[in-house]
Amino acid sequence: MRIVGLTGGIASGKSTVSNLFRSNGLPIVDADLVARDVVRKGSGGWKKVVKAFGDDILLENGEIDRAHLGQIVFSDPEKRQLLNRLLAPYISSGIFWEILKLWIKGSKVIILDIPLLFEAKMDRWTAPIIVVWVDPETQLQRLMARDGISEEQATNRINAQTSLDWKRSKADIVIDNSGTMDETKLQFEEVLSQVSQPLAWKEFAFSRDGLFWILASVTVGVLAVQKNLSCM
Ligand code: ADP
Repeated sequence: MRIVGLTGGIASGKSTVSNLFRSNGLPIVDADLVARDVVRKGSGGWKKVVKAFGDDILLENGEIDRAHLGQIVFSDPEKRQLLNRLLAPYISSGIFWEILKLWIKGSKVIILDIPLLFEAKMDRWTAPIIVVWVDPETQLQRLMARDGISEEQATNRINAQTSLDWKRSKADIVIDNSGTMDETKLQFEEVLSQVSQPLAWKEFAFSRDGLFWILASVTVGVLAVQKNLSCM
């Protein structure tokens, strides 16, 4: 199985590229969806967050007010670290289960769409690693337009993240999303053909079919040895 890592910075275009993969039929494990799932009312993650941040962060229906929590952690690095630390184990196991489900289905190439790929040290499980990069001014403008926030708020959110240039330096593949959608789609076509190449032997061994193939080969080998022994 090939687990392609897809990451970027806030408003760099990661979701846009992820949607291109999805519309080309590749299965996506979306870490943001997993992160939402692990704080659903009554879950283990929800209990940890409520205990640490208090009832004030709850909506009337008992779900976590994500916008409110977001404001708290974006303006306070210590609280952000605390939240990450509390939820990291739940998110990692949620991602693991999503990957396992796709493995059982026999998927060969999957996209792990995860903003904190490097920070969560998940990069060691993914290859190739794609970073969606954008120039700083375009990033700021797109973030303000998408989330309807001020320049100051957008700058704070960008600065709260690991530098996008550093992420770019760790990438196997960079998609520069500073231009038009058509320019991004052109780069995407190239990347799609790259990640859709036949699996390398190691990747095949980690796929469901690869495991069956190995088990079948071992079984045939053992039976052949037994047959030879019984003929002696
Ligand atoms: P991320 O998932 O990295 O936070 P998004 O994919 O949501 O970023 O993109 C941020 C915003 O920029 C969205 O409103 C999206 O529609 C817009 N956008 C993304 N790529 C382009 C592009 N090449 N040209 C114009 N707008 C874009």
